[in-house]
Amino acid sequence: MRLRPDRGEVATYIPELARADRRAFGIAVIGADGQLAAAGDSETPFSVQSITKVFTLTLALGKIGDRLWKRVGREPSGNPFNSIVQLELEKGVPRNPFINAGAIAVTDAILSGHEPREALGEILRFLQFLAEDSSIAIDEAVAASEKRTGFRNVALANFMKSYGVLDNPVDYTLGVYFHHCAVAMSCRQLAMAGRYLAHSGRNPTTGLLVISPERARRINAIMLTCGHYDGSGDFAYRVGLPGKSGVGGGILAVAPGKASIAVWSPGLDAAGNSHLGRISLEMLTKRMGWSIFGE
Ligand code: GLN
Repeated sequence: MRLRPDRGEVATYIPELARADRRAFGIAVIGADGQLAAAGDSETPFSVQSITKVFTLTLALGKIGDRLWKRVGREPSGNPFNSIVQLELEKGVPRNPFINAGAIAVTDAILSGHEPREALGEILRFLQFLAEDSSIAIDEAVAASEKRTGFRNVALANFMKSYGVLDNPVDYTLGVYFHHCAVAMSCRQLAMAGRYLAHSGRNPTTGLLVISPERARRINAIMLTCGHYDGSGDFAYRVGLPGKSGVGGGILAVAPGKASIAVWSPGLDAAGNSHLGRISLEMLTKRMGWSIFGE
């Protein structure tokens, strides 16, 4: 692949993530026929971070349906993923489920009626089920590292709590949030897990319905508009696919009806999105004619 040597910077605000190898790069593409095409470090587990927000959104919608939209909006924020400014102006209701505040509100909805450990187990089992891989696990060192340094998330959660947007004790909700962000998956596992979004809510191999086609379409819409924070417009412009990034350097992208794609390279751009990940997706969609906006 012809990728430029400039790779961006790895995330350091979660100290454990600073250990990632800047030179790593992996990609996995799973087509509608279930065929896997993979290259580079596609089997290396990495910290999926905010990419789990797609799966927690799916679970929360399954649990409480459209009532979720009372606690969280679905408009792009145009702000960094951990911004607190908008939250005050909008009375503690986060703009969308993919910025940190929104994902914390979604996690709180999954947690209600459960112990934190049960909620976390539900999220992990859902990922294992989607990826058809029971070896997927949480990296406890990353979870502990984020818990020690997650002051902004603590602020966001307390702020929402003060507006009655969170039902559960703040430290319970954050405990589940930090741990699900710390799930480690490889590109292959992530592409497997994303297949239902590329195929109208179904596992394309078994035909099993995971969620309704309408819900899959809507989650894809939110990924397109909000999946890359204040870099979402640029990602749509360059790549043209629904996608969700994480500060671990992963991106899950969905080519509807065609493929589920996961890329990983830990160097990030200024908005906290994988630099080479985005460039490689741009090259792939161009070559394949996969942009949802046309060739
Ligand atoms: N766990 C990270 C955080 O809360 C997730 C951020 C991200 O991946 N953009 O800061």
